[in-house]
Amino acid sequence: MDLGIKGKRAVVCASSKGLGRGCAEALAEAGCDLVMNARGAEALEATAQHIRDTYGVSVETVACDVTTEAGRAELLKVAGEVDILVNNAGGPPPGMWTDWEREDFIAALDANMLTPIALIKALVPGMMERGWGRVVNITSQSVKAPIPVLGLSNSARAGLTGYVAGTSRQVAGAGVTINNLLPGIHATDRAASLDKGASDAQGLPVDQVRANRQATIPANRYGTAAEFGHTCAFMCSQYAGFMVGQNILLDGGAVNATL
Ligand code: NAP
Repeated sequence: MDLGIKGKRAVVCASSKGLGRGCAEALAEAGCDLVMNARGAEALEATAQHIRDTYGVSVETVACDVTTEAGRAELLKVAGEVDILVNNAGGPPPGMWTDWEREDFIAALDANMLTPIALIKALVPGMMERGWGRVVNITSQSVKAPIPVLGLSNSARAGLTGYVAGTSRQVAGAGVTINNLLPGIHATDRAASLDKGASDAQGLPVDQVRANRQATIPANRYGTAAEFGHTCAFMCSQYAGFMVGQNILLDGGAVNATL
């Protein structure tokens, strides 16, 4: 399917691995030129080269921590005039509700709420001037159904969701859509490290922990970065212009809710 976005310029944050990489690859397959980011330069450059070789699009890389002001400044210097923004960063650490102090919340808010908001504020005005733009924020199923050990994520992502609900409706008239994409469990390094943490806490082998988690998902498997990325690319396509301020859940049916 031609998504109608060939030649568009996309910034994909935190995209050397996992779900961000899935989004970068699917946008490249649709013909977008990319600006990719991650902290580790080596993995970032290897992924970028794979995408150049596979899809023939231009890929620039900015190795920086996108959750810092200095990192975002570096990214924005290279970004230039952007049509598509995919916001992403690592998720906050797991723990108990009694564990977290003010600094832990501030770090989670910086990474998973204030960073995407800063990039939206920097890049959406240009999209509005040019009359077309797409923003997809990678959040989490924890926005719909809280995950007990991820209280920092539950909190910070809820804040971003509220901001997007209001802001998306103020920019839609200029041809810019802002939506959130909510992953349930996907087979990435992040899921592997959460499984490892649960395995240590429960004293069970990792395979058992993974099988137990899989059994809670009606699709009876973890999602893949490729299917996540293709949903993101559709949300960035010409066909998704009427999708405004939505929270699209990709969880294999794990959240047991009618709406
Ligand atoms: P992942 O496999 O660990 O990949 C994370 C990617 O982001 C890597 O490329 C990493 O590269 C980059 N990154 C991390 N922190 C960064 C930072 N501060 N600045 C720039 N790049 C950064 O994680 P994932 O599973 O794709 O998860 C992506 C997001 O979705 C996370 O926020 C996660 O909490 C959320 N999520 C994931 C799942 C799941 O099941 N996978 C479910 C719900 C929500 P470097 O380490 O080199 O920077």
